[in-house]
Amino acid sequence: MTFDVVKQCRSCGSSDLAPALDLGDQPLANAYRGPDDVSKEARYPLALFRCRGCSLVQLTGTIPPKQMFDTYNYFSSNSSTMVDSMRLLAKRLTAQRKLAADDLVVEIASNDGYLLKHYVELGVPVLGVEPAQNIAAFARQSGVPTLTEYFTQRLGSELADSGRAASVIHANNVMAHVPEINDFVAGISAALRPDGVAIVETPYLVRFVEDREFDTTYHEHVFYYSLTAVSSLVERHGLTIADVEQIPLHGGSLRLFIQHAGHPSSERVQKLLEAESERGVTTDAYYADFAKRVNELKTEVTDLIRRLRAEGATVAAYGAAAKGTVLLNHFGLDHHMIDFVVDRSVHKQGLVMPGVRIPILAAEELERRRPDYTLLLAWNFADEILEQQERYRAAGGTFIVPVPTISLR
Ligand SMILES: [Zn+2]
Repeated sequence: MTFDVVKQCRSCGSSDLAPALDLGDQPLANAYRGPDDVSKEARYPLALFRCRGCSLVQLTGTIPPKQMFDTYNYFSSNSSTMVDSMRLLAKRLTAQRKLAADDLVVEIASNDGYLLKHYVELGVPVLGVEPAQNIAAFARQSGVPTLTEYFTQRLGSELADSGRAASVIHANNVMAHVPEINDFVAGISAALRPDGVAIVETPYLVRFVEDREFDTTYHEHVFYYSLTAVSSLVERHGLTIADVEQIPLHGGSLRLFIQHAGHPSSERVQKLLEAESERGVTTDAYYADFAKRVNELKTEVTDLIRRLRAEGATVAAYGAAAKGTVLLNHFGLDHHMIDFVVDRSVHKQGLVMPGVRIPILAAEELERRRPDYTLLLAWNFADEILEQQERYRAAGGTFIVPVPTISLR
């Protein structure tokens, strides 16, 4: 097992790197295993630095992809919050840009066609790009043409050369995961028509830091973008941020509207750049304060759970996703502290959480076993899950929502 320490910024190449957050050695967040598998688990440093050159926050090292587990067992369409949000986005873009039969909407990391299928319904030609074989096949079966490939500069150029340049490119929650980020953005630049727009959604650094979303740090999540850092990245490839919105997805994301250089930038872009500068996102102190507040949260959550258990309460957790693995491992909450974790994904049920070895059960077990408290690891879907678990709560169960500050609900 190897861990390649990064010595230069993956975006601008600067070697002036400042520490930002250190979560210690952690198991791979999606390395679920069977309850009988007691072989030693691999652990790798999980830490972030900030490039003092372009201010991009990123992982301090990379694990070769072949050592990583397949994280593509997540079908986007499973989340109802996501489906509604994507339908609205497709409608809005189709109307605003008057998309018709001679246009093409390309989505990078198109998953099961959860977004493009809405364009298909509106009569707009689409092309998905999705490297996971099984998910790409599923998308094609549901009527969304999909290439089984990674998106690169080479593919972007090929699309343009073969008359498939895009009027609209979507890239949702993917730009944070691609280590070769200059190649990726060069591909967008190549594939985008002169008047086209690329709509990129990515978790927002300011929400990550200020809402203490430290548990969204994991070994596949390479970049944590501010508008400042992403502007510098896209400008390197002849692109500009034309507009920006903040959306609630994944604990707070940026929706960037990227066009070829020469297109005007909205006032919102300028305002957000100024706001980031005022908040100090380009200073070391901003991240020192973040690390301190993450430690405070660790103390508060572990003290609370220890006290509840000492009083005889039973405690479970909800959400066997990557961020759950990170929070439990970093806080040292193992199977002695948390009785079980529930998750709706049948692929995870029957396995144990990496590192902390807490068994994963079906979501229905919450109502059946009625633990007194349930730590909500999937806090980004808090409203949806609290509503689904109304009966558990009505029967006396209480959720502990850990992020951004502890609340009992
Ligand atoms: Zn840099």
